[in-house]
Amino acid sequence: MVDFQGTADRVWRAVLEPETVNAGLIAGDTGALLVDTGSTPEQGAELRAAAEATAGVPLAGVFITHDHYDHTGGLAAFADLPVYAHVSVAPSPLSSRDDRELTRPSGQLPGRFHVAKALDLGDRRVELLYLGPAHTGGDSIAICDSAVFAGDLVESFGPPQFDEATDLRRWPLALESLLGLLQADTVVIPGHGEPVDRDFVADQRERLQALYGMATWVQQARIPLETALDQPHLPFPREVVEQALRLRARE
Ligand SMILES: [Zn+2]
Repeated sequence: MVDFQGTADRVWRAVLEPETVNAGLIAGDTGALLVDTGSTPEQGAELRAAAEATAGVPLAGVFITHDHYDHTGGLAAFADLPVYAHVSVAPSPLSSRDDRELTRPSGQLPGRFHVAKALDLGDRRVELLYLGPAHTGGDSIAICDSAVFAGDLVESFGPPQFDEATDLRRWPLALESLLGLLQADTVVIPGHGEPVDRDFVADQRERLQALYGMATWVQQARIPLETALDQPHLPFPREVVEQALRLRARE
């Protein structure tokens, strides 16, 4: 059951299990934009029905914050709509009208953008922005008035998530750029977890910066992992720091 909760003026989010991921919805007077699609085609279909009922206007498109399955898995339910995403987001597993028959690189797909794209929803506009590699190589955000959908650039359900596609050095820079766009009253909706404010994003940026500094120093000074982890003031829980240090060591 998909339940869209009002988060700002004609901006909603729905929490989808099993990944506790936030899907988003932004409505203007002529169309609405869905942000991310859940984990499976079935969930995508449920999400679509709930989004159309909530928005009261037709869906004008779908925005994918980044290429992780819990954000892209429902795309099959939106095959007739334009799909907007950073150019680095691959055509597959995305399946949409734009992608289906295409063998051209994702950079030439109609809904893909390099840095920015503006979408007209009638009486308001949504801006999609790429802030550089961070959680993945292709995270982008959606901004509309005082609401921002930040994807997994920002996490409040738990600590930030890392994998081989993460750019630990540039993630804090992406958040620095994001901070420059936030006002005191801006609501930031993370990829997972409750909406947060500018102070939360600033704190997460500091912690990621500290983590990168720590990972770099551990590597340069050849400090054993156990020694590095054996201190009381880590920026994130021990297992998260350990995972990041291991990833950094492999770079
Ligand atoms: Zn992710």
